[in-house]
Amino acid sequence: MSSPAKPLPTRERLSEVRYEIRGELARRARELEAQGRRLIKLNIGNPGNFGFRAPEHLQRAIADDMGRTDPYTHQQGLPVAREAIAEAYARRGAPDAHADRVFLGNGVSELIDLSLRALLNPGDEVLVPSPDYPLWSAATILNDGRPVYYRCRPENGFQPDPVEIETLVSSRTRAIVLINPNNPSGASYPRELLEKIVAVARRHNLLLLVDEIYDQILYDGASFQPVAPLAGEHPCLTFSGLSKVHRACGWRVGWMLLSGAAERLGEFRAALDLLSALRLCANVPGQYAIEAAVNGPDTISALCAPGGRLYETRRAVIEACAASEHLQLVAPAGALYAFPAVVGPAAQGFDDHEFALELMNEEGVLVVPGSSFNVPYRHHFRVTLLPEAGTMREVFGRIDRVLARRAER
Ligand code: PLP
Repeated sequence: MSSPAKPLPTRERLSEVRYEIRGELARRARELEAQGRRLIKLNIGNPGNFGFRAPEHLQRAIADDMGRTDPYTHQQGLPVAREAIAEAYARRGAPDAHADRVFLGNGVSELIDLSLRALLNPGDEVLVPSPDYPLWSAATILNDGRPVYYRCRPENGFQPDPVEIETLVSSRTRAIVLINPNNPSGASYPRELLEKIVAVARRHNLLLLVDEIYDQILYDGASFQPVAPLAGEHPCLTFSGLSKVHRACGWRVGWMLLSGAAERLGEFRAALDLLSALRLCANVPGQYAIEAAVNGPDTISALCAPGGRLYETRRAVIEACAASEHLQLVAPAGALYAFPAVVGPAAQGFDDHEFALELMNEEGVLVVPGSSFNVPYRHHFRVTLLPEAGTMREVFGRIDRVLARRAER
């Protein structure tokens, strides 16, 4: 006898997880497009959507090796790729940067989840920046942990405060997440600040989880300080990949480097081995591009320098925000985003979701509401800096029109 049809169950904690970069607004945008509306979609940092292509030497590296990409690789990834990554980190001063400590994944996304799965027990806490790239919160929750937010306040240039971070440490805290340069704020953190955060991690025996996927996307002389060399013997996982610096996000190529003294890592290393083995290996064709990417010519700096596409778009956004009486922007030092605040009369009773919907319906521009990045305020929004400068001037004209109407209400 068959039982009456019932809807499938789903994991309860999913109700706590949000990923609005590709959420309800993006779905609504697709509906509008299906009805023939033309939208400017600035919700995803996806270089390929804005005319960028992966550098040719990376495309060639994959094409040349395509015939060899049929087998599974070692669970951590191809040795030649891991060696190239390890050498690059060793040149930056990361301790113990050996191929054996490098894990390749299907994008940094997979490795964020894998590392938290290896670390967390139910109820463990992870110190996550606010604003954050929301996968860090989502993966913490889905691995039975609890994100505890340390504030990176706009009035402090979105810099974290190491003293505040330390006050949030509890007996359940297991790790500190750093996203540097930061998505969504664009902040990049100076060495002295990072040293203080590393000291907090040392004092409380916390794993450092350092997302450096934007490490070479820097503007106006901003410098980048990798964390692994500062952490030294202290356990640290550094994440990066081909998605942003090399504009190849569809290839799904990411990596992480485990650093720190072996005796401090305990069973964590074995946990990473097991979880890597369970997903067999990362996408193999993509792995063949890694050596060429890491050892090949620099193709990103020119885009970030005056006259370069990203630089000029960023400049257009900074100028548009400066000229607007409704917007305030902390100029991004790095990464691919701007995170302006709405200020003045237009900000009265402001709700970032309502605004984003209005902007899309009335002016055809899709942005991400700021509260999607786990901040306790609702008057920011995020745009990607990937379109051309002219498009961005048009976009900010439209944004200003919506805000001017709101200011008059
Ligand atoms: N980390 C940060 C800070 C990101 O902004 C992104 C993507 O936007 C990712 C990780 C995911 O990158 P991947 O394409 O390597 O999965």
